[in-house]
Amino acid sequence: MTAYEGGCLCGKVRFRVAAAAIETGYCHCRMCQRNSGAPVVAWATFPAATFSWTAGSPATYVSSPKVSRQFCADCGSYLVFRHEGSTEVSVNTTALDDPGSFPPRMHIFVESRIPWFRTDDKLPQYVGYGPLGPGGNA
Ligand SMILES: [Zn+2]
Ligand SMILES: [Zn+2]
Repeated sequence: MTAYEGGCLCGKVRFRVAAAAIETGYCHCRMCQRNSGAPVVAWATFPAATFSWTAGSPATYVSSPKVSRQFCADCGSYLVFRHEGSTEVSVNTTALDDPGSFPPRMHIFVESRIPWFRTDDKLPQYVGYGPLGPGGNA
């Protein structure tokens, strides 16, 4: 059975997803930048029904209507993005124990890309959510 685990920097909050990733990408939106403290967030979406917390419990920040971001209240690691009503959950790829297994396949919210931040790839680039709709990251 396909399953992946991940967690925060301090290790107090841990999670598990029991499915293959549906889609992966980079999000350049300002909220991800401010939330993560990084120029871009790499994300991987999974079926929400296969996601579970296995240790600790995350804090939740509602960043915009219908959107919540979950993080470790102790160390601050950004872990999960949820859109109300979506059947998917978006995991911060770097929180997974094996981030190398989830190479990003697209760029979204490229209108907010920081000018000095460039990636050397030929991946598709989308304004806003692109073809994913809000089931993906934001
Ligand atoms: Zn932590
Ligand atoms: Zn974003």
